Amino acid sequence: MGSVIFTIVGCGDAMGSAGRFNTCFLVDDDIGRFAIDFGASSLVALNALDIAPDSIDAIFLTHLHGDHFGALPNLLLMREYVSDAVRPLTIAGPPGLQTRIVGLFDAMFPGMWKTDWKFPLHIVEIEPGAPVEILGRVVLTQPVTHYAGPEPSTAIRIETCGHAIGFSGDTGWNEVLVEIAKRTDLFLCDCFDRHDKPFEGHLSYDTLLRNADRLETGRLLMTHLGPEMLNAPDSFEIEQAKDGMVISLAEVTPA
Ligand SMILES: [Zn+2]
Ligand SMILES: [Zn+2]
Repeated sequence: MGSVIFTIVGCGDAMGSAGRFNTCFLVDDDIGRFAIDFGASSLVALNALDIAPDSIDAIFLTHLHGDHFGALPNLLLMREYVSDAVRPLTIAGPPGLQTRIVGLFDAMFPGMWKTDWKFPLHIVEIEPGAPVEILGRVVLTQPVTHYAGPEPSTAIRIETCGHAIGFSGDTGWNEVLVEIAKRTDLFLCDCFDRHDKPFEGHLSYDTLLRNADRLETGRLLMTHLGPEMLNAPDSFEIEQAKDGMVISLAEVTPA
């Protein structure tokens, strides 16, 4: 088993409730450094943690909402015009990713998209439902219950160096979460609402608690907490993610 260190750069909702940064998790393994999601505030959050944004070799995206991929244009600009690093960058995500990245970039920085970046840029579209190997990690995505345009929103499971990490992405309850979480060291799960809502695009604590025993993971963390969760007077039975939290997967007791 190799060393895998998991850092929560941001675990907030789309609105930055309670000052939490948008979703971005960082993983340092024996191969290098990758991120899971790269929400709009991620460059600020990385800099606040004194982590060089140009040290990331790969970014795996669960879905194409601004709070999960919105800082990609800023990262590309930083790498092109500020950084000396010319290491390759791989961005992987759901089918349709290439078009959405270019569209986002054009909206934010018109006329500045390049086809000849000074660093090799690889955009990989992952077909959900079957594991693929990307830069030495085995990545499985499955469609979940959350609308982010015609491109599928997904949960993601990444195996690396003998460890496994799962993340629900944004979603209402979906049975694929049981498969994604199975035998992971760490599983992060959307928990935006305190109580169930008619709108099913996010999970509530009530639903997560009802299903928590089915998530076969060494450590379950609630993420993407919305105002109702953050302001609830309850003490929760499931651990909350927090910005800046660092977890060594070697210290997690497997499920
Ligand atoms: Zn979100
Ligand atoms: Zn979303």
